[in-house]
Amino acid sequence: MITRKMWYLGWYIVGSMVLAAVAAKPVDERTHLQRVFHHVGDVEKPEEAKRLELGKVVFYFDQKPLVTKGRSTNQDERVQLELFFPHAHFKEGKITKEIQHTTGMYSVFLEQVATGVKCSISFNPQYVMFDYDSFSSISERPAVNLHFFNKILLNKMKRSGTLLRLTSLKRPCIAIDCGHGGKDRGARSVLGVCEKDVTLSVGLEVAKLLESRGFKVCMTRRSDEDVGLDERTSRANISEAALLVSIHANASKQPKAHGIETFFLTPSLFTRLSEAPDWHDTVMKYYREFLYANGKKLAHHLHRNVLGVMHVANQRSDRKVKAAASQILVGSQIPAALIEIGFLSHPQEAQLLADTQYQRLVAGGICKGIVDYYEQCIAQHSNS
Ligand SMILES: [Zn+2]
Repeated sequence: MITRKMWYLGWYIVGSMVLAAVAAKPVDERTHLQRVFHHVGDVEKPEEAKRLELGKVVFYFDQKPLVTKGRSTNQDERVQLELFFPHAHFKEGKITKEIQHTTGMYSVFLEQVATGVKCSISFNPQYVMFDYDSFSSISERPAVNLHFFNKILLNKMKRSGTLLRLTSLKRPCIAIDCGHGGKDRGARSVLGVCEKDVTLSVGLEVAKLLESRGFKVCMTRRSDEDVGLDERTSRANISEAALLVSIHANASKQPKAHGIETFFLTPSLFTRLSEAPDWHDTVMKYYREFLYANGKKLAHHLHRNVLGVMHVANQRSDRKVKAAASQILVGSQIPAALIEIGFLSHPQEAQLLADTQYQRLVAGGICKGIVDYYEQCIAQHSNS
């Protein structure tokens, strides 16, 4: 017999299933805006800035977003323009998000509207050149990249016809980034060794070695603390650091995977979304010769030297130097490389990575890689 209660319960279940089905359908068609990063560069005085970028805003989506360009207007000496991501939704149901450059050079306002996410960009055209492109991260996540370039520095470069020397060879400062930290443990070995602890020990040792050789060091973290990826690059960008080395340990579902791999950025990872403005070639010249070429050189020096110490302590395993867009590299305004110093998912390598002696060996390799890179730079400088 069906009681009144059961009848209601039946309708409740059927109703919930219908609602769930209706709600589920558009979800598949949606693109979710998952994360937003704001990498800041020189902030105080754009006239005296050393870096070509004032800042960069990166949006990560769960699938490749559509991007349409809306109207562009000039208002109160500011350029206002709109980008639109049709069918996009904030992942966590947020309705708005605002990003503001410290000195008000630019701002980005994201807003959920019925048909997608509207992105209103405003900047001061006296100081800012705006451009945007897209890329896929190392973990295959699609991203859109908004660049706010320093117009004053760009014009100086155009006038001089050459690239300004943006790094000081005399007082080199090195930014060391120890991957993960705080709540973000990173990879973990079967015995519970956390990536965040390994990268911190190795990074602190690298800093000590560099300082003993007369280098200055800027650490993006010095303890077990939570530091966002954009905060890390902002710390390095604002500092006087001439290059950035990010230290990580790897993990794989294949327990036999081991060895080291090193990453750098190349222009081919990025796809332009806007039509090329006339200053674009100057920017690309700077990037190719300064950021990308030097980042790649740095990656090779690090890789060769760390591989050298592994040869002594472990079976040689060269997983090569590769081009890939990791967020720390994307946000860096100085030549940068990311090194994965071994696999925590590999039982023997995990044991080594947790060993203080071995950590010192790896740190020695990283330090030697940085020194070799610098010696090569100085040799080239004195030859030119
Ligand atoms: Zn990592």
